[in-house]
Amino acid sequence: MSNSKRDFLDESLRERITTIRSQLPPSVRLIAVTKTVPADIIRIAYAAGIRDFGENRIQEAATKQAELHDLLDVTWHLIGHLQTNKAKKALEQFQWIHSVDNLKLAQRLNQLAGELNLQPNICLQIKILPDPNKSGWEIPQLLEDLFALNQCKSLQFQGLMTIPPLGLNELQTLEVFNRASELAADIQSQGWSNIHMQQLSMGMSGDYQLAIKAGATMVRLGTILFGERSPQVK
Ligand SMILES: *Cc1c(COP(=O)(O)O)cnc(C)c1O
Repeated sequence: MSNSKRDFLDESLRERITTIRSQLPPSVRLIAVTKTVPADIIRIAYAAGIRDFGENRIQEAATKQAELHDLLDVTWHLIGHLQTNKAKKALEQFQWIHSVDNLKLAQRLNQLAGELNLQPNICLQIKILPDPNKSGWEIPQLLEDLFALNQCKSLQFQGLMTIPPLGLNELQTLEVFNRASELAADIQSQGWSNIHMQQLSMGMSGDYQLAIKAGATMVRLGTILFGERSPQVK
């Protein structure tokens, strides 16, 4: 790419970051979702002030993290589905895991975090509505698993993460986010010693304003910052 074209892209990415940041309440953490985005573009986002980056694949993230190892104050967030056999890598590479979606995975992460002397930040991914395309706890199962989760002392449970099913209208989407918010408050009020529900990781490019209305504390934005991804990478 020519320098002038790269400069042009730099400029527009910076502007988008500034504009979106200025529209978010100061208490909402902006996670820039950089799946498929190359390391040199991530550097531009960093220069524009982004410190939280979200990736959904362990291997893709590892390559970019190696290229960006000089950016010391970056926080990496794993937002994609995590298989138990990749739990160790996930812990080594990410300070936050938003996609913990079953008890077995949580217990494995807890065991490994203990061995590695890490205290990862965890969001529990939940499904408010049935969705065959998404993983996540169904609410009754999560409520049943809270006792066992609370015993995972190496994990810092920070809150909930959710993604509404595709095809909902605005009102239905808002309803999903509101229900996630109520569930977090409900769990918080149960007074678990090790499960805290301060964070709500919800809202993507198409719905983050609704998520913020419902109390999101972390929004995960990709397309609106970096442009469309190729269609096979959701
Ligand atoms: C890709 C992805 C995002 C970002 O989606 P956009 O619509 O591009 O903003 C957010 N969260 C998760 C879990 C993702 O996989």
